Amino acid sequence: MAQDHVYINGKWYKGEGEKRAVINPSNEEVIIEINEASQQQTVEAIQAARHAFQYTDWPSNPARRIAVLRQLADLLEQNAETFAAIETLNTGKPIRESRLDVSDSIQCLRYYADFVEQRTIEEKKRTDGTTSKVIEEPIGVCALIVPWNFPLLLGIWKLAPALAAGNTVVFKPSELTPLSFIELTKLIDSIGLPPGVFNLVLGSGSPVGETLVTHPDVEKISFTGGTKTGRWIYEQCARGLKRVSLELGGKSPLLIFDDADLTSTVEWALFASFFNQGEVCVAASRILVQRRVYNSFIDQLTQRLASLRIGDPFAENTEMGPLISSSHLKKVETYIQIGLQEGAVLLQGGERIKERGYYLTPAVFTHVRQDMRIVQEEIFGPVITLQTFEHDNEAIGLANDTIYGLAAGIFSRDLERAERIAGKLRAGTIWINSYHTPYVDAPWGGMKQSGIGRELGPQGFAAFTETKHVNISQHGKSLGWYPSRS
Ligand code: NDP
Repeated sequence: MAQDHVYINGKWYKGEGEKRAVINPSNEEVIIEINEASQQQTVEAIQAARHAFQYTDWPSNPARRIAVLRQLADLLEQNAETFAAIETLNTGKPIRESRLDVSDSIQCLRYYADFVEQRTIEEKKRTDGTTSKVIEEPIGVCALIVPWNFPLLLGIWKLAPALAAGNTVVFKPSELTPLSFIELTKLIDSIGLPPGVFNLVLGSGSPVGETLVTHPDVEKISFTGGTKTGRWIYEQCARGLKRVSLELGGKSPLLIFDDADLTSTVEWALFASFFNQGEVCVAASRILVQRRVYNSFIDQLTQRLASLRIGDPFAENTEMGPLISSSHLKKVETYIQIGLQEGAVLLQGGERIKERGYYLTPAVFTHVRQDMRIVQEEIFGPVITLQTFEHDNEAIGLANDTIYGLAAGIFSRDLERAERIAGKLRAGTIWINSYHTPYVDAPWGGMKQSGIGRELGPQGFAAFTETKHVNISQHGKSLGWYPSRS
């Protein structure tokens, strides 16, 4: 059992796929070795989910689903500190941030339990004597695929609405960060769902992820990850006309106007850019500052950066931990070299600070041009570019000028102007005078190449349902041919 990390049809199995060492990014030590799922086991998980959808009462028993979600939330709450520690151990994110992820996960499970409880069926009496009911039904077998930056929270953002709506699930975490979902699966197992409702397969994009995406019995893919992978998944889904939700990359701008309070704005900018080491899809990686306050902003930013606490993610006052992996660290460093080759000025940062662990100091580039790769491409690490603008339209033009449209931030005392500019920005989430907070009842997702669809809120639930119209007539009352209708 200790070595069994694949969960299919209500039972634990030893993975028959690759063997993988899960690494602690803060010291590069092996935490555990995992036997991942084989392609055959992935297919078995899909078949178990299909069987459970077809033959158990799960899709048609909302009371049971509500109870399960609430029970899972309670169990997670009772084990919150364990889950926070696991998340920090596996991802390197500061422990305070892991605690936030756990509490947001609990909230999300409870939100969707309440959501299902409060749902009503829309009913309409018609002038032809019939009654129409519009019913939201589950889609079927859903594959949930998540990345490594928020393994628990992003997983719950999918799992809670998917189960709430009555779907059955095959879940795949990132190969780098399976630990919190293995632990969560133990909680799910203890609740006693009908076998096959929830299945966990560990493994990499190929073969495990690809099998999930291409298998005909999977009717919905909910994916969070890079835009390149998302594009490939979208193409595969087109073949079978599968339902698909994509939460993809970003290159989010932070617009700082000259009437903003600079001291608090600098603090927000650091948080917006370097929270979770900058490994956040909505991270503010492009800072646009109105020219009049640009120099003062840089002075305050560099002073504050010098005192940023980078180090042991388990220390209570740590503000930044290590990056996720050696290869990701190298990818971020490559982008820093690209920035230098393109002629940008590295004002500070971009250095490794420890012999062990994937630590990198925040890198700040100035003298950038809009067409540079470090301005256009998602780096997904602690690297930001600073640009200036004179007037509103210039800020809007620069902010919108990438392929992405995930999020944006605006700092200004003039809320009227900020809201007007928010209306012009092509982004799925816009924070005015704050940043990063997700609200469980508000939609989350991207415009342009940042994705398709929304998570959280009612939209996040709708993404896991099909709409059915049932029209009911008293037997023998209608003549059948050409009835009047309205
Ligand atoms: P990837 O796209 O590489 O991977 C995401 C997940 O998809 C992983 O579980 C991965 O498996 C899996 N995967 C990879 N290839 C395939 C495939 N062909 N078929 C099916 N599944 C596949 O992204 P990263 O893990 O590197 O995560 C970082 C990216 O996620 C960033 O671009 C970031 O912007 C985005 N992201 C978006 C968010 C949003 O809400 N919009 C939130 C958080 C991150 P494995 O890694 O195990 O091989």
